[in-house]
Amino acid sequence: MTRLIDGRAIAADVRARVAEAVGALSDRDIAPGLATVLVGDDPASRVYVRNKIRACAEVGIRSIEHALDADISEADLLDLVGRLNADPEVDGILVQLPLPACIDAARATEAIDPRKDVDGFHTTNAGRLSVGLDAMVPCTPAGCMILLKSVCPDPTGMRAIVVGRSNIVGKPVAQLLLAANCTVTIAHSRTADLDARCREADIVIAAVGKPEMIEGGWIGPGATVIDVGINRVEGADGKGRLVGDVEFETAKEVAGAITPVPGGVGPMTIACLLRNTAIAACRRRGMAVPDSVRLA
Ligand code: NDP
Repeated sequence: MTRLIDGRAIAADVRARVAEAVGALSDRDIAPGLATVLVGDDPASRVYVRNKIRACAEVGIRSIEHALDADISEADLLDLVGRLNADPEVDGILVQLPLPACIDAARATEAIDPRKDVDGFHTTNAGRLSVGLDAMVPCTPAGCMILLKSVCPDPTGMRAIVVGRSNIVGKPVAQLLLAANCTVTIAHSRTADLDARCREADIVIAAVGKPEMIEGGWIGPGATVIDVGINRVEGADGKGRLVGDVEFETAKEVAGAITPVPGGVGPMTIACLLRNTAIAACRRRGMAVPDSVRLA
């Protein structure tokens, strides 16, 4: 029988573990702080930042909010990031993407102190992850691994396919699967015979951004499917609804375990941001990261 991987419940468990770790830090008079930087008034970005701030409050992490006008210069943004890097009250820095076109997002990301880079997008963290050193792991990929390990604690030797090769999801999740001793295929828009490559896999991670592109017939019997996609489509009733990159209804008939959309990977991303902030607060002070917030 197919197992439904409950991202909401697992994310709640991660948040509870972070709250416990933050509580232990506060017993030592340490109050982890996350600085959020929102540039402009993109409605979706405002909602994301608001949700992150609310989630911080729930686990006892302080938020330091910076809302900047859309016409701020890149130099002024980099100056703010520099001040946050130097601020001892700040453990994590999150510059909400996308940024206005006049600002180079890569330069903004690279300006963040890698030790405070709780999104894990800095090239130092990407490089450290790829060579197996302690790194800030990007939140969504970390969430995928926690979900995978909830049904498959040791994926050693399994064949995994990651569909998508973005720097924020596809590539880092592939690195994490490799570190977990999977045999990893990274597929993308030029991959030949994608359906056959997926069918061979024991683990399918879909991070494409195309609604229900991966059909049930592409999934091997018993495979574990982690669907990162979040796509808004119009339902038969004319109302908008969210679907993943995997055709859930047909895939769940063959998969061994599968994440739903919504309620799968989505809730894990913020939970892992909180987790990264707690980890950053420990590492910056030379303290051991509590086992409760280590990657499963
Ligand atoms: P990107 O657009 O950056 O990357 C998409 C990837 O999919 C690219 O590597 C692209 O290949 C590949 N691709 C596109 N079309 C095809 C195709 N027909 N066949 C195979 N591969 C294809 O997206 P992201 O990685 O940022 O996000 C992916 C999805 O995950 C989106 O739906 C996004 O909304 C969602 N997401 C969800 C998060 C969450 O919290 N749950 C967080 C982040 C993202 P190529 O490189 O060749 O162009």
